[in-house]
Amino acid sequence: MNQIAMCIEEIKRKVSSTQAHYQLPIRPVTIIAVSKGQGVDAIQQAIDAGVRVFAENRVQEAQEKWPAFKARYPDISLHLIGALQTNKIKDALWLFDVIEVVDREKLVCSLGRQMRQAGRVLPCYLQVNTGEELQKTGVKPLDVDRMLQRCKQEGVPIEGLMCIPPLNEPPALHFGFLAEIGRRHHLSTLSMGMSGDFEMAVALGATHIRPGSAIFGERKV
Ligand SMILES: *Cc1c(COP(=O)(O)O)cnc(C)c1O
Repeated sequence: MNQIAMCIEEIKRKVSSTQAHYQLPIRPVTIIAVSKGQGVDAIQQAIDAGVRVFAENRVQEAQEKWPAFKARYPDISLHLIGALQTNKIKDALWLFDVIEVVDREKLVCSLGRQMRQAGRVLPCYLQVNTGEELQKTGVKPLDVDRMLQRCKQEGVPIEGLMCIPPLNEPPALHFGFLAEIGRRHHLSTLSMGMSGDFEMAVALGATHIRPGSAIFGERKV
């Protein structure tokens, strides 16, 4: 087994032992392999190890790396996890399968219109700024209601929530908060937890975790 395959097995083992430890229902947690900053060789190894869900944070980088893989492996699902500018929507729609970063009204309007035009309506997640950090994108917790309504009006299907906790705070607070917002709005899909904190995220109800360096090692860029 190569290094990447071993890391993936290790993550799966930790997910299972976390569920056992907290006596959670044993249910599948989707590992989204964050391949930003990684080359095609590393991605190929993850594919060979059976990973079929990946994420990138930049549309342009994804355009350079992913069209060939997606042609060869039609069952791969690619998530966008970095800020989406409205002028990149068109490109993003053709390459990605899930948009995790719906974070503002302007984006909702353009996304709805362009998905209709393209005849390609993608499942989306609302990115919630659980820490209410000024410099960070995401919907403020108090605005989630209004944003969900806007999304409905504009035909943007919101299937879940995602968050990136502030660096200097215990992530558990934010994961618990996101799970609570999800319960309140009947959104059961929760994308939370990265390499350093995915076990905590699983303990608090993550359905999707986003490890990058725990799979691929340090990023090259
Ligand atoms: C980079 C990134 C990750 C993965 O981070 P690691 O610490 O390498 O696991 C997960 N989610 C988002 C939104 C990211 O930008």
